[in-house]
Amino acid sequence: MRPTKAIIHRDALEHNLAVVKHHAPNSSIIAMVKADAYGHGIEHIVTPLQAADALGVACLEEAIALRRLGWDKTIILIEGFFAADELAQITQHNFECVVHCQEQLEILQNTRLEKPLTIWLKINSGMQRLGFRPELVTSAWQGLSSLPLVNLRCMTHFADASDLAKATTQQQMQQFFILTADFNVETSLANSAGILAWPQSHAHWVRPGIMLYGVSPFADKTGLEHDLKPAMTLQSELIAIQACQAGDAVGYGGDWICPEAMPVGVVAIGYGDGYPRHAANGTPVLVNGKQVPLVGRVSMDMLTIDLRSQANAKVGDRVVLWGEGLPAEIPAQHAGTIAYELLTQVTPRVPRKII
Ligand SMILES: *Cc1c(COP(=O)(O)O)cnc(C)c1O
Repeated sequence: MRPTKAIIHRDALEHNLAVVKHHAPNSSIIAMVKADAYGHGIEHIVTPLQAADALGVACLEEAIALRRLGWDKTIILIEGFFAADELAQITQHNFECVVHCQEQLEILQNTRLEKPLTIWLKINSGMQRLGFRPELVTSAWQGLSSLPLVNLRCMTHFADASDLAKATTQQQMQQFFILTADFNVETSLANSAGILAWPQSHAHWVRPGIMLYGVSPFADKTGLEHDLKPAMTLQSELIAIQACQAGDAVGYGGDWICPEAMPVGVVAIGYGDGYPRHAANGTPVLVNGKQVPLVGRVSMDMLTIDLRSQANAKVGDRVVLWGEGLPAEIPAQHAGTIAYELLTQVTPRVPRKII
């Protein structure tokens, strides 16, 4: 069997959830598990995240999958419904649901609910993505609160909470608190960056995503600096070692030239597994726990590494691309992206194995 796999660390998920609780001890927790739990596999996170109060997903399909896996607590659809016919299933499964626009509000007004439904009124406090603009919040509120069987809550989302130097988050909080001051309902603002850096944003419900998976939301930090543990270790093995000569060009395009006679290791993982093709020469990977640099272009199924510092490395040795010993933030930086993207892009070819 191909040795490439993503190890999912159950204890890391449990630990990271406890770190959330530690930072926001008075808030309930909506664990964000959209996009197949940020690539970790929802079937693997349901048990480790049992202590969360609710799960947050992007669509009905993800929510139903969680019910099938036995999650019987709250599930929140953070973009609400995409079409009127989803409402019956939402109430049938007891899901909670965001309402972020006039079109959704009108669909609700034209639907007779069979059962009580908790609606999260989403306020656009400055991100310009989802939510009612401040001047429309009161009328949306009135529209929703006049509906029978609807129980209301309010939420907003930060555009830039990982930038501590900017005033944006402070302004968004202020806007949100002013708008909701008279509503007297439960509220939610904080993503991971809000939980870690903006305690005033914790409110009734916090919504951690990336930190649950052990990754820092801040560009200049890794999860370890917040006492978080990587929940995924992406690993493979050396499947060949080339005894290259000075001047040999490695891989597609021959971009990387051996400066001297040296061993070049071939690892069974590539962009077809979700390893970023744009990872630059020098991106660290771990061979037997030791950092060595990526050299040459990443292929679909393989990549090549400089083994000069690991003369004893042999075919079959373990290679870690990120996770234990190498935070995903590091290869993400070398690939010009963020760890959120690396984690969610691990492809279905890579088996997830929970330990
Ligand atoms: C994904 C998401 C979060 C979690 O964000 P992180 O930065 O991963 O913590 C919180 N709230 C909403 C609405 C989201 O879509």
